[in-house]
Amino acid sequence: MASVQFDTVIVGAGSAGCVLANRLSADPAHRVCLVEAGPEDRSPLIHIPAGILGTLPRRQVNWAFATEPQPGLGGRRGYQPRGRVLGGSSSINAMIYMRGHRSDYDDWAALGNPGWAYSDVLPVFRRSEDQQRGADAWHGIGGELPVADLASPAVASGAFVESAVRAGLKRNPDFNGASQDGAGLYQVTQRRGRRCSATVAFLRPVLARPNLAVLTGRHATRIVFEGGRATGVEVVGPGGTARIGATRELILSAGVFGSPQLLLLSGVGPRKELERHGIAVRHELPGVGANLADHVDLALVYRSDDARLMGITARTALRALAGYFEWRNRGTGILTTNFAEAGAFLRTREGLARPDVQLHFVVGLVDDHARKLHYGYGVSCHVAVLRPKSRGRVGLQSADPRAAPRIDPAFLAEADDLATLVAGVRRAREIMEGAPLAPHRGAELFTEGTGDEALVAQIRRRADTIYHPVGTCRMGSDAMSVVDATLRVHGIEGLSVVDASVMPTLVGGNTNAPTVMIAEKAALERA
Ligand SMILES: Cc1cc2nc3c(=O)[nH]c(=O)nc-3n(C[C@H](O)[C@H](O)[C@H](O)COP(=O)(O)OP(=O)(O)OC[C@H]3O[C@@H](n4cnc5c(N)ncnc54)[C@H](O)[C@@H]3O)c2cc1C
Repeated sequence: MASVQFDTVIVGAGSAGCVLANRLSADPAHRVCLVEAGPEDRSPLIHIPAGILGTLPRRQVNWAFATEPQPGLGGRRGYQPRGRVLGGSSSINAMIYMRGHRSDYDDWAALGNPGWAYSDVLPVFRRSEDQQRGADAWHGIGGELPVADLASPAVASGAFVESAVRAGLKRNPDFNGASQDGAGLYQVTQRRGRRCSATVAFLRPVLARPNLAVLTGRHATRIVFEGGRATGVEVVGPGGTARIGATRELILSAGVFGSPQLLLLSGVGPRKELERHGIAVRHELPGVGANLADHVDLALVYRSDDARLMGITARTALRALAGYFEWRNRGTGILTTNFAEAGAFLRTREGLARPDVQLHFVVGLVDDHARKLHYGYGVSCHVAVLRPKSRGRVGLQSADPRAAPRIDPAFLAEADDLATLVAGVRRAREIMEGAPLAPHRGAELFTEGTGDEALVAQIRRRADTIYHPVGTCRMGSDAMSVVDATLRVHGIEGLSVVDASVMPTLVGGNTNAPTVMIAEKAALERA
């Protein structure tokens, strides 16, 4: 078997892996290898923001996982897209830059993770950031990750914000600033109207470093151990099976599904799960795969006569063609849309200390993750429960590393999550039916009445993820945690997990910026 040796090997070139590869290889004496199962990020659908309509529903650069049947969703299987390409999910996400609520990080610290309070992580967020509006107490400039205002937001997105303000929400021009509450346009990780994935931001600028190797098309199948130490990883690629040695550290950044799967395949996890698949127990760690949390979401969908929106129509096709040249030459126009252009954070009950629901206003008609297309124009409003109480798990379907992991988000297993979603949908509908949106909104699709029963029935029939699963290799110091506050795996030398899976609780917001921050912090820790 072919074998090569590095100081540090990182598995997974997603949001976290690309940041780590950049930071760790900054020391020319440190030999770093980044291993990615997917291909290079050549597809134009990745770099043209509106191309998400092509990458989200298809498999080319997307693992496109299906969940176990979800009792909370009427027995349906949910859809879990994840990037399978350089940049990982940051190459197929909606580009919204959002850190979550400051108290989320104080919660992490209070759960026994020193160094993760908001005051600790704020400088780390600022370190990676290049804020278009300039630096202030919350934002940084000069970092690798551009945070920009949308180049050409739709008129309807502004109308959504107006309608939310009329419904009683405050106008919020910066969800990542002094306060998260209110409605506004989202900022995005784009530069001159192009997607700026973790690869574009962090990896491309350092590809020429002689001490950094980036291997695409290599699927990691097993961690290699010597005694109680991880010493490398086995990968399957074009040349067959190879072994990549790590003399200092093996870092798993394979994401919320990939990292626990690789640990389980290597005999690290709950004994029962390993034994069920005939895998020898190398190190019993009951928390591997547990604690899966995700934002459950329902999209309200409306038809529209507003031909300035994105639709499946001949007119949109012609505008997209002209828009291509505008995008290429000036970085503006309809192809710069991330679709989810505006949003809001709101509290569904009196007495809550922070928002419990997030809205994403979308300038198109969203049905089943764009897997079902409808002719014509429309607008949608996603309603997500920010801190669901339900916890699911990731396990194995089989000991074959090529098989997809077994994913059970346990959506709506806790009654409180359903109650929050119902309350959030009612508030969202009020905003969507407000006067400022009237010129952009027609009849609502998928409704069968407005009573609670009809709404719950619709939720069971149509709700699913808004793409923020986390927590399956939770950081902490108790028996169910997988990594410590420095992200090193409990009980094994030379092995760490650095990606969205280490979050102890789900943040109240989108998860890309928090994952970038986690990797920045891990790199600082290892400098
Ligand atoms: C459709 C969609 C829309 C989203 N929208 C937003 C948004 O607008 N804003 C936001 O903040 N967040 C958004 N998110 C979430 C955000 O992108 C993710 O939380 C974040 O990218 C997770 O980063 P990660 O490093 O943990 O994992 P990933 O970025 O998923 O990276 C994991 C990498 O590991 C690779 N890998 C997995 N297994 C193996 C293996 N065995 N061997 C080798 N490589 C492997 C994968 O191919 C992948 O490249 C969205 C996500 C999706 C899917």
